[in-house]
Amino acid sequence: MIEEENFGFRDKRGHFVPKEATDKNPVWVLPLNFKKILSWFIFSYIFSWNLVYLIFAFIAYYFFTPPLSEMKSFAPGWMSEILLRNYVIGTIFFSLIHIPLYISKSQGIKFKFNPNWPEKIQKLFTFNRQIFDNLFWSLFWGVPIWTGFEILSLWFYASGTIPFFRFNDSPIYFFLILLLIPAFRDAHFYLVHRFLHFKFMYKIAHSVHHRNINPGPWSSLSMHPIEHLLYFSGVIIHWIILSHPLHAIYHLFHAGLGSANGHIGFKQMLLNDKYAIDLSNYNHYLHHKYFEVNYGNLMIPFDQWFGTYHDGSEELHNQMQLRLKNIKGE
Ligand SMILES: [Zn+2]
Ligand SMILES: [Zn+2]
Repeated sequence: MIEEENFGFRDKRGHFVPKEATDKNPVWVLPLNFKKILSWFIFSYIFSWNLVYLIFAFIAYYFFTPPLSEMKSFAPGWMSEILLRNYVIGTIFFSLIHIPLYISKSQGIKFKFNPNWPEKIQKLFTFNRQIFDNLFWSLFWGVPIWTGFEILSLWFYASGTIPFFRFNDSPIYFFLILLLIPAFRDAHFYLVHRFLHFKFMYKIAHSVHHRNINPGPWSSLSMHPIEHLLYFSGVIIHWIILSHPLHAIYHLFHAGLGSANGHIGFKQMLLNDKYAIDLSNYNHYLHHKYFEVNYGNLMIPFDQWFGTYHDGSEELHNQMQLRLKNIKGE
C-alpha cells in the first residue's frame, strides 16, 4: 500500500507538504556530487516527463503531420489538420489526469496538496466555475495559439523561408539540440513569467491564470492570450538557430502538455496499491498558493539566486513574509 505519510505530512490546516519535492537540483549544489548529478540527469532529465512529451511530439510529427511539400503555402486543409491533432492530443492528455483525480475522485484527497476541492460556484471565474473557465481559456485560446506557432514554424521550413537540417546531416547536433530544449524552456519560462508579474502585465493578462489558487490539470493552459503568446514564444529559438522540424514540435508539446506538471494539485496519481505516477511540481503549486515566490522551476535555480525561493518549510515561509512586508513598507 502506498501511504501518504511516507512521502510527506499534513500541516495544521490539513495541507499536504511533500518531502523532497522541492529539493535543489544537484547540478547547482556545492561541492559537486557527481553521483547525484548523474542520477538527476538520467532519471529527472532524460527518463522523465521530458521523454513522455518527446514521444507525443514524435508520434504527432511522424504520423499526424502533413508532408512538408503540402505545407509550402497556407491552406485551410493542412492547418486545420494540425489544429485538430493538437485538440485531440491535448484533450486526451489533460482528461487522463483530470477524470480519475477530479471526477471519479478515485483516490480522494490522498496526496492532494490542498485538502479542499475547487468550489462549485465562484464568481471570479468565467462562467462562474473553475472547470468551465479553465476549459474556455485553454481550448478557445491556448490550443489555437500553440497551433499557430506550430503552423508558422512548419510553413517557414516547408517554404524555404528558414533553413532546417535533416537527421542524417548531423545526428549528434540533432540530439544536442533535443537535449537542450527542456533547459532552454526553463530559462525562458522564468523570464516570461517574471515579466508577467510586473503590475501592468499582471493586471491585463496574468491574473487570469492566477484565479486558480486550488489548480487542477485544466488550469495549466488557462491563460490570457497575451500570456499564451509569451509562453509559447520560446519556439522562436528554432527560427534563429538551425533546427529540425521535430525540434520545434517537441518544444511546443513540451510547453503545451508540460504545463500540466505544475497544476495537477496532487503529488502522486495512484494506479493501484503498488504503483503510482509521480506528478509533483510542488514548487509551482506554491507559486499559485503564495503568488510572489517560485517564478521559475527547479532546473535552473533563479528563485534561489534572487531570493524568491519557497520549499514549503517554515523557515522560507517566514523569509517570504518578511520580504513581502519590506516591499509593502517601501
Ligand atoms: Zn501556473
Ligand atoms: Zn504567476
